[in-house]
Amino acid sequence: MEKAMLSVKNLYHTEPVLSIGIILPIDKKNSIEIFSHEKNKLYKIETHENKIIINNSQKESILLHNDKTNVFHTIRSVPAGRGFHWEKSIDVKLPGSLLIKNKNGFLFIINKISLEEYLPCVATSEMSGACPPALLEAQTITARSWIIAASEKKHSNLGIDACNDDCCQRYQGIGNITTEAITASKKTRGKFLLYQNEICDARYSKSCGGITENNENVWEDPPKPYLRGIFDGLSKSIPDFKDHKDKIDWILNQSDCYCSNKFIKEKDLKKYIGNVDNKGTYYRWVYSSTQKQLTETINKKCGTSFHSIKSLIPKKRGISGRITSLEISGLFNNQIESIMLESEYEIRNALHPEFLYSSAFVIILDSKENDMFKSITLKGAGWGHGVGLCQIGALGMALSKKTSKTILSHYFSSALVKKLYD
Ligand SMILES: [Zn+2]
Ligand SMILES: [Zn+2]
Repeated sequence: MEKAMLSVKNLYHTEPVLSIGIILPIDKKNSIEIFSHEKNKLYKIETHENKIIINNSQKESILLHNDKTNVFHTIRSVPAGRGFHWEKSIDVKLPGSLLIKNKNGFLFIINKISLEEYLPCVATSEMSGACPPALLEAQTITARSWIIAASEKKHSNLGIDACNDDCCQRYQGIGNITTEAITASKKTRGKFLLYQNEICDARYSKSCGGITENNENVWEDPPKPYLRGIFDGLSKSIPDFKDHKDKIDWILNQSDCYCSNKFIKEKDLKKYIGNVDNKGTYYRWVYSSTQKQLTETINKKCGTSFHSIKSLIPKKRGISGRITSLEISGLFNNQIESIMLESEYEIRNALHPEFLYSSAFVIILDSKENDMFKSITLKGAGWGHGVGLCQIGALGMALSKKTSKTILSHYFSSALVKKLYD
């Protein structure tokens, strides 16, 4: 394996170089076009068996080296939103070098880029440059910490630090870069979130829905003191839920949270949120499905053969109201059979043809026929896993004049911000 992974210990003095996967073997691409802006030259790259062909000459691998700033390559048709409902192909203009390899017969393209050059691209890919500086600074420090400390390196088998997509951190090159994002990055250069002298595995998601989630309820990590669920509003404490019913009432009711309409109107969100996101409502949402659609979706996603679905019963909810254990019962061979879904990710995947916004929802079964419901409505809260920084909430805070320091200490309550290199 390539020595691409970063050691936290080595990081305390110098700026690291990252390896970001742009085209992955799972994209199953055999040809691509890359344009060099410096040379004004188009490279047509293809795979041939286990080799790479570039403009008709055959190579083991290709390095398009570049250590200058303001020199770029554009890769055509790069996947954005892999597997999500907003998936599309976009052209990305990238700083740094490109390493092009053949992995199991498919193209594998890695962008080698310095951390500080990478960050303004991430901040703007995730949130538009129209966002207030405090949000971009908070987002940049969070992203900087996460890329270094992530306990879950999803692509470690490929020897890269992250991919270019939502599965890690959305990175679409300099296409949408703004002077505000560059300023935020320069202003926070070398600054990380630290907890007991370790860089924090600083998570973030689009909208917590009002309360953020504890990390151990989403991933199989030990609980992290700086990733505790918090109430995302003016009041500091989480409402005292006595039972399931209280949590349900919370999801059904609007509240004055930073990620709610009170602080940021959802119709204004498109001005701030990255341009490949589906437009819609995130703080509170409704999803409906017929019995037939739901049965088909569950069978396809879970590999079951239910004839119809009889019930969905939440067995566990996290502190934010997210369901972390769900029992699905249905009719199979004239008997009632059940399966258990044991993570918010599985639940979001199983109940929607693409992906459900979050697992914080209330289930409403509509009119019954032969003891089976005809349709189902899910009333939900938030978008994403809800752990750590809530991006829409952080935007709400920044729009009401909170500083990046206040935003970070709100979401990562026991972490400190410290500069590790100049
Ligand atoms: Zn990834
Ligand atoms: Zn929130």
